[in-house]
Amino acid sequence: MIPRLVILGSASAVPDADHENSHMVLHGDNSAIMIDCMGRPLVNLAKIGIGLEEFTDIILTHFHPDHVGSVPQLLMASWLVGRKSPVRIYGLHHCLQRVEDLMMAYHWDEWPGFFPVAFHHLPEREGILVLDNPDFTITASPVRHYVPTVGIRVVVKQTGFVLAYSSDTVPCPETVRLSQGADLLLHEATGDEPLGHSSAAQAGAIAQEAGAKRLGLIHYNVWGKDDYSALLDEAAGTFNGPLFLCEDMMEIPLRTG
Ligand SMILES: [Zn+2]
Repeated sequence: MIPRLVILGSASAVPDADHENSHMVLHGDNSAIMIDCMGRPLVNLAKIGIGLEEFTDIILTHFHPDHVGSVPQLLMASWLVGRKSPVRIYGLHHCLQRVEDLMMAYHWDEWPGFFPVAFHHLPEREGILVLDNPDFTITASPVRHYVPTVGIRVVVKQTGFVLAYSSDTVPCPETVRLSQGADLLLHEATGDEPLGHSSAAQAGAIAQEAGAKRLGLIHYNVWGKDDYSALLDEAAGTFNGPLFLCEDMMEIPLRTG
């Protein structure tokens, strides 16, 4: 199987009927790795053919409700339907400490027969190794948002494809380095907020500077809107390569050419 990325959600903080909050899953022969966790995870994973025991890892970019909100639900639902295999959760200390506190607030330590969950606290440094498995090598770098946040870089072992994901951030050199020469950069396009987010034009400028081969805009405002073509026009003003708007359940094969 050609490893794939499935966009499970593409909206910024406010979802609508057609767009969940931004999150996605990497799927290879040996692993299914969620990046952030929103919506109804077990239902959506099943829809794209990823079974209960098949998802192995969850990478959390930062502790905001529109990125980590469904973690407790995913863990509880998986336990209730009989999951046995371990799950590994990765993120910065700021995020994982709060997720663990949240689970303790639900008294998950008293839920009998819970499958093993291991929290991997990542140091807040550029280019840190998150995980290396037979399918993917994944590294992370801190970006610039309201709370400690990481962007992600994925190298697909079977194809050599490089994917980068900005997560939530203002335009910053860390994202340029993270996405240097990437086959695909997914960059947020919430809008120009000097302390936390980027516009589509700024996303295009980052992709251009990084020499990314393709740009996908994600984490954009959907509430009360139904035409997003202005975002593509904006990004095309600063980025010379091919670009597209991420949509929910969009499937992207992780191969070059
Ligand atoms: Zn955020």
